[in-house]
Amino acid sequence: MIELSHLSKSFGDTLVLDDISLQVPEGRVTALVGPSGGGKSTLLRCINLLEIPSSGTICLGDATVEFSPGGRPGWDAIQKIRRQTGMVFQNFQLFPHRTALENVMEGLLTVLKWPREKAKSHAMALLSKVNMEHKADTWPATLSGGQQQRVAIARALAMSPRVLLCDEPTSALDPELATEVVEVLGRLAAEGTTMIIATHDLRLASRVAEDVVFLEAGKIVEQGPARRIFRDAEQERTRRFVSSIN
Ligand code: ATP
Ligand code: MG
Repeated sequence: MIELSHLSKSFGDTLVLDDISLQVPEGRVTALVGPSGGGKSTLLRCINLLEIPSSGTICLGDATVEFSPGGRPGWDAIQKIRRQTGMVFQNFQLFPHRTALENVMEGLLTVLKWPREKAKSHAMALLSKVNMEHKADTWPATLSGGQQQRVAIARALAMSPRVLLCDEPTSALDPELATEVVEVLGRLAAEGTTMIIATHDLRLASRVAEDVVFLEAGKIVEQGPARRIFRDAEQERTRRFVSSIN
């Protein structure tokens, strides 16, 4: 279970996340949806502590970290949270001077200090999970966007994170390449991977997510099962948003 309690984040005087409380059960997929600037990326970046929340609590597995405006949590606490999250970005962010296989092996070698052969066979298994084992020795620049994103997903999974955080994983891709990524994420969801996916892609959200959180201006407007939110949201604001992206 990932539990966020009263999480807020300000940049200077601007409050970007306002008292967010959210529970993400293990093995389930939550889509974060809402208008641009609503705080979806910031929320994901706060969960893996790429941004440090201004206040509130994050509870992830066996790590609980409290934030307050005055202080910064200790390095150990930050590492404990980061180790349990994997992140997938809109623009893939693969290491350009490493092959697909080396990208997936990187964390296993440098962080977990696995021996090379063990890291290689684990990384190959992950590449095959995302249908990319045939491109293991390829440079990122020669892969399509959909292929790069699938390698990025394999890399994020390499450290066996408790939760996979995906920020607009399909929005840099044309529809056909996005389909490959939706299929991979759908398969991971079916296998019980816990994920939080920020997305404007309703096809991705409705295909993969069981729960939906609608975020606007830093606040949760509505949350609930995807089936209900997409068909029969309680809030007029949510209904308007859903029909605008349909
Ligand atoms: P989009 O759908 O366009 O990706 P989003 O929901 O992901 O939007 P965020 O990127 O989280 O929204 O941005 C939320 C707000 O926080 C915006 O007003 C943005 O300008 C602001 N913001 C984000 N990062 C920073 C930063 N590092 N410094 C200052 N303001 C920031
Ligand atoms: Mg964003």
